[in-house]
Amino acid sequence: MAVEKGAHRRYGAAMASNAPQPAARTRKPDWIRVKAPTSHGVSETRRLMRDLNLHTVCEEAACPNIGECWTKKHATVMILGDTCTRACAFCNIKTGMPRAVDPLEPEHVARVASTMGLSHIVITSVDRDDLPDGGASQFVKVIEALRRDAPGTTIEILTPDFRNKPMAAVESIIAARPDVYNHNLETVPRLYPTIRPGARYYASLRLLESVKRMDPSIFTKSGIMLGLGEERMEVHQVMDDMRSADIDFLTMGQYLQPTPRHAKVIDFVTPDAFGAYAQIARAKGFLQVASSPLTRSSYHAGEDFEQMRAARAAQLAKNS
Ligand code: SF4
Repeated sequence: MAVEKGAHRRYGAAMASNAPQPAARTRKPDWIRVKAPTSHGVSETRRLMRDLNLHTVCEEAACPNIGECWTKKHATVMILGDTCTRACAFCNIKTGMPRAVDPLEPEHVARVASTMGLSHIVITSVDRDDLPDGGASQFVKVIEALRRDAPGTTIEILTPDFRNKPMAAVESIIAARPDVYNHNLETVPRLYPTIRPGARYYASLRLLESVKRMDPSIFTKSGIMLGLGEERMEVHQVMDDMRSADIDFLTMGQYLQPTPRHAKVIDFVTPDAFGAYAQIARAKGFLQVASSPLTRSSYHAGEDFEQMRAARAAQLAKNS
């Protein structure tokens, strides 16, 4: 297999920080292969989303886990339309001028949670730099509708960075009290200009730090993709930055190139290297860590949430 030279593969070995960038990889290794999304659960989930005029990041981002997640009736709903105002080099969601916000969307999201009997739901959105509050008020309405119509469902939100928006936008979401506030750093700071040019690493970090400061009871979560050319020590530094911001949950997964127009895969990181990163992250103090080639922010989010809640309870009991 032609994937033996990446930075992550040299775990434990001395590594020059100015090593030349390895060539891009195109052929997926065996550990990336996934089942085709053909089950009854998949078609049912798709029909429900279409009927309620909702989008999912599972489809729009061409997530490799869609067969597994939708079979288990777990989907990540993407609010505020299907068109993003940014154009990140890793993301498959279409870019352009979005349509008006759908006032029925909050009610429809709540109906998905109650119809599917979800114990945990993940809500994300496109970036809406065109809206004065970046779409924060729609997140609030969705949380309120879920609390009203699906009170047994725990709520995880995965938001944009609300860069250049008033702080009141984020404050309003915190006041609505989601159970988990997730915002992905996506990659190491050095790669932001090419991979995430519309965002700023430290602004994203500060967003998560502010959430925790405003309401420490809300779990905070963030993730990065590996395989974009980052170095091992840069990944460790991101972990340290996240812990400084008191982030509870770290996710790490393999970046996959959605189309030839997107950023190339530089390195397929082995499952063992993902495991080694997970060990280091746990040692750095994260309450919860998910790290594997197919890990995505919302992959197994419900089970991970339960484990994180139990870990916090155990930690509090130990400290009391
Ligand atoms: S991992 Fe997340 S985005 Fe991917 S299919 Fe599962 S729920 Fe959807």
